[in-house]
Amino acid sequence: MKKILFLVLSLIIVTKSSLAADFNSCKVLYDDQKYNNAANCFYQRIKANPNDIQARFYYAASLYFDRQYNLSYAQYKYIAQKYPNTEIGKYSKAEAAKVYRRVTAIKKARENDTGDYAGILNYRSKWYKMPVKIWVEPGPYKTTALKAFYEWQIKSSGLVNFSIVADPKYAQIKVYFVDTINDPVSDHNIGLTKLRYIGNMNMSANIQILQRTDSNQMRTNAQIYPVVLHEAGHALGISGHSDRNNDIMYENNFTNDTHLSDRDINTLRAIYK
Ligand SMILES: [Zn+2]
Repeated sequence: MKKILFLVLSLIIVTKSSLAADFNSCKVLYDDQKYNNAANCFYQRIKANPNDIQARFYYAASLYFDRQYNLSYAQYKYIAQKYPNTEIGKYSKAEAAKVYRRVTAIKKARENDTGDYAGILNYRSKWYKMPVKIWVEPGPYKTTALKAFYEWQIKSSGLVNFSIVADPKYAQIKVYFVDTINDPVSDHNIGLTKLRYIGNMNMSANIQILQRTDSNQMRTNAQIYPVVLHEAGHALGISGHSDRNNDIMYENNFTNDTHLSDRDINTLRAIYK
């Protein structure tokens, strides 16, 4: 946890020291869906020039996609109030309302975060022996991927737990970062888990995570994390998806929250009980 925090902090410091960032280089980060970096970049722009309304607008949008909803709301609101009769002001007013609805929906989903979705799964299977041996391909995402697996371990109070092996030959779960997903289920797969089981006993799981965005840029760790968290759920034996977007196992998890819900953990418990 400390390590992650350190990484985040150093990222911010690096960005803050590069004051020269112009609008277009911030926009490249935004277009590349590196929203956290984009937000820091646009923040520097508006700090240097508070009246750069276009930068402020993109700052608000970057914050939104980076799931910093309260900050995003405040920025949209600021634009709407300062420039009420302009196009960007009117648009910001609508966006502020959108952010508000999103925050309300998340709050509501969290308040209703009870029960499980084990009943609607396609199949349930489990690892019979703990710890499950896991291997993650070395590279820029290894720490992030392991953090996602440990999140399942921590939140389930060790009901599932993992040990890391150095050689994929001895691993039960293997995680690969790829440029093209082999044998995808759909064109939109950004992660894919192939789980082999006999009866309800898991034998092996092979996870592929798409490491590049549509514009062929490497994804950030923040983008990779929820994808691994989701695929780890499949590798644990959750075959199928939740029907609520507050759960990490909702099918389109990329646009949703990045945390394990109580329902995710309750579903895991229903399988492993
Ligand atoms: Zn899935």
